[in-house]
Amino acid sequence: MIINCRCGKYQFDVKKSDIGTSGREVQCGICNEKWVHGGSVSSSNVKKITNLTQKYRTPLTHKIIIFFIYVTAIIGFLDLIKYKLITAAPIFQDYYIAKEKIILEIIAILQQ
Ligand SMILES: [Zn+2]
Repeated sequence: MIINCRCGKYQFDVKKSDIGTSGREVQCGICNEKWVHGGSVSSSNVKKITNLTQKYRTPLTHKIIIFFIYVTAIIGFLDLIKYKLITAAPIFQDYYIAKEKIILEIIAILQQ
């Protein structure tokens, strides 16, 4: 399971069994913030502190998908403002010509 530090900056990948059903006091291994995670807030249920140091990282596949979403959004936005952009800065014409060439290249490769 993924738990978020109270500081909001760090996420940790923790075994569900380490937290248990009654909750556990945990401590961020980076900013040292302590809090009770899961279960009831009653302090009698709180087990010993687990120092969270195993930082959760976004999987590479997610990063690649996010990257393509950004690239697609930027290309779509540039297409949307194509004529305004070329009027304001004619140098952008080179970008659109290059983009068309790349698309035609990709189509040619796919048709082989
Ligand atoms: Zn923290």
